[in-house]
Amino acid sequence: MNAQERKKALRFLFEPLVDKLGYKFTPAEEDADFLLEQEAGIEALTGIPYCPCQARTDDRAENMKIVCPCIPYHREHYDAMKRCWCGLFVHKDVTDPDKLVQISESKFKAGRK
Ligand code: SF4
Repeated sequence: MNAQERKKALRFLFEPLVDKLGYKFTPAEEDADFLLEQEAGIEALTGIPYCPCQARTDDRAENMKIVCPCIPYHREHYDAMKRCWCGLFVHKDVTDPDKLVQISESKFKAGRK
């Protein structure tokens, strides 16, 4: 399967998963296409569609928390931003993703204390 086909397949696989979580693909089509292309490339190398925006470590259990879509593992943080860390997925009611603010995990956790 070439990269274009795999991107389409990832869209097809992810859409119903994130839909159940209250998310959709970002309406910023160019960003979505770019991020899916990165994921397809990572998957081609590793066999797993890891997040293109979060660093992997030597800890397999930790790495599994950044397999796309990683929303369930970071639910509160992403819900607060109305987007996932990369911005590939946004809350269903979002029409302008450029207005969303990315908050680091450490800032998010500090704000909850
Ligand atoms: S941050 Fe977004 S793009 Fe990255 S793995 Fe999580 S859901 Fe996928």
